[in-house]
Parts: sequence; C-alpha cells; structure tokens
Amino acid sequence: MFRAIVIEKHDDSTSASVASVDEKDLPAGEVVVDIDYSTLNYKDALAITGQAPVVRHFPMVAGIDFAGTVAASDSDRFKPGAKVVLNGWGVGESHWGGLAQKARVKADWLIPLPDALSTFDAMACGTAGYTAMLCVQALEAQGVTPDDGEIVVTGASGGVGSVAVFLLANRGYRVVAVTGRMQEADYLRSLGATEVLDRSAFSEKGRPLARERWAGAVDVAGSHTLANVCASTKYLGTVTCCGLAQGMDFPASVAPFILRGVKLIGIDSVNCPAAIREKAWAALASEWTPDLLKSVTNTTTLDETVEAAERLLNGEIRGRLVIDVN
Ligand code: NDP
Repeated sequence: MFRAIVIEKHDDSTSASVASVDEKDLPAGEVVVDIDYSTLNYKDALAITGQAPVVRHFPMVAGIDFAGTVAASDSDRFKPGAKVVLNGWGVGESHWGGLAQKARVKADWLIPLPDALSTFDAMACGTAGYTAMLCVQALEAQGVTPDDGEIVVTGASGGVGSVAVFLLANRGYRVVAVTGRMQEADYLRSLGATEVLDRSAFSEKGRPLARERWAGAVDVAGSHTLANVCASTKYLGTVTCCGLAQGMDFPASVAPFILRGVKLIGIDSVNCPAAIREKAWAALASEWTPDLLKSVTNTTTLDETVEAAERLLNGEIRGRLVIDVN
C-alpha cells in the first residue's frame, strides 16, 4: 500500500483527500517509480479543488509531475535505481499522478534526471520551471536578445512567473515583473526584476494598440492581460503565452499582429516532444542555483496539500511549492 492524494467524484461534486492505495491498482505502464517529490501546480490546484474539469476519470491520483527513483522497469531505457522526472502527458488528469508515493507510467513519458539536479531540485523547478524555460527558449528561438529591450513577465510572484523572471535576468535581459502582490516587489527584485508593475494596469480592457514597450513577454494570465501585453509589444516582438490565471478568453484585436508583426507563441508543456523537454531540462540543470532554490521554494507534506491548493488559487503561495510525499 502507498499514500496518495485521491480525487473522487460524487453526484455533482468532487473531493480530494490523502488515502491509502494498493500498488496492484496502479494503472498500466512499463516503469514503476518510487516518488521522492511532487509539486503543487495551478492545474493540480484546479483538480484538487474541483474548480475546473481537469480530471478525466475517477478515482484519480492527483499530481501532474514527480521526480523519483525507478523501482521496477520493463523498459530497456530505464533500469531500477535510475533517477527520473516526469511532467505532463495527462498524468494527474487521465493517468494516476505524482502526488503519491508510487506511480506506474509509460517509459516514453520519463526523462532521465540531469546529473546536476537532485530529485528535490527537479521538483523545485517542477512543471512551472520547465514551462518557464520553454517560454525563455521560445523567445530566443524567435531571435529576441537582451539588446532588443525589456521583457515583461505576468503573474510574476507565481511558480512560472518567478522562475521566468530569474532565468531571463540570469541571461542578461531587463525584466519587468507584473504582479497583483506589490508587497512581493523586493522578492521579485531579488530574482532579478529591474521594475515591478501592479497588474491592475493590465487587467482591464485596453486599446488595440498601446505605446510600444516590450521586446518580449512571458504571459501566464491570458484574457485582458495577454491582450494588453500584445498591444504594447514592440514591432516584431514576441509574446509567449502559457497560462490562463486571469481567464481562458483572449479579448484582443489583430492590430498588434498585422500592424507591428508581433508574434504570439503558444507554449504547451504537457505533450511537448521529448527532444524539446530534454533541452529545457538540460538548461534548467545548468542555470538553476541553490540561492534561487532557497528564495523561490517552500516544501510541505502530502497531508497539507489539499489545503494548500485553496491557498494557491487565492494567490497566497509565492513561487514554487514542493511536496515531500514521504
Ligand atoms: P501560480 O498559481 O503559481 O501562479 C499564477 C500567478 O498568476 C499568481 O501567482 C498571480 O501572480 C497571477 N494571477 C492570479 N490571478 C490573476 C489574475 N486574475 N490576473 C492576472 N494574474 C493573476 O500558477 P503557475 O505559475 O503554476 O501557473 C501559471 C499559469 O500557467 C496557470 O494558468 C497554469 O495553468 C499555466 N501553466 C501552463 C502550462 C502549459 O503547459 N501551458 C504549464 C504550467 C502552468 P501575482 O500575484 O504575481 O499577480
């Protein structure tokens, strides 16, 4: 038996709690992993609280990511004892997930943990850090360089936002952090932001085109925030879009795209091909520092996770929350 956060369906609601699960009930897969750490992501919080239909069938073990050690394997690629990390692939949505002491998954979903990272480090980065890196690499693939000007990061105090601020600043970009928590301005400056702006300036309907300011953007908010970011992006600038913390809608006009050649690049971490994932993890392994770890990460237990999910959706958790499942 092992412990896990199990989400169950009732007539027209769901509930989540820590439960004891039989290993023989694990879903099919070639590799069994003893999990060391998972994390609490925005999507996990939606699934645990039932605030959005993230879970495809019930009962579901929550958790879209984990890092741990291979316990048993029918795959030539992963031997028992190997350290691995997993992000996405529907784990925690349609396949039992990582907020548990064990998982059984397809070998193709696993990435060998880069040598420079421990399983704790990997989950301190988590899906949020890996997604932040996908955004940074997408900006650079579009040719955005530090000389082009400022990069704006929305939802900057959250998981993706905090890591994006650090990674961009570390690569020499001038980063403007947008947050609803101005009390976190010192924290954001400590990660490398050169300026911190209140998100209220972005969250209402704005003009189709505004003064050109951003060479690039990492947006986790969607909705009016994303529309306003696009409207104020410079000629031929690039906006990466990865989240919906404000909303799934995109109430924008085509003006920035057809008059300024602004590029809007979608970022998906869930079904991202292995080669792109491995490139992102390799870069995280070389750019992630113990100092960042300390300032961005808090750790809690499986027993505290359900309550933490509510706090995350209320915007009360700063940076990354690692879950020690043991
Ligand atoms: P967090 O909850 O850690 O961070 C989200 C942040 O968004 C909050 O901390 C807050 O930052 C900001 N925010 C909250 N509400 C609003 C609002 N109404 N308007 C504007 N900003 C708001 O979540 P994550 O960092 O884990 O994820 C961020 C987003 O990215 C989520 O929507 C998530 O689903 C998505 N995501 C997508 C992935 C992909 O593959 N595309 C992968 C990972 C995440 P502040 O207080 O600083 O304003």
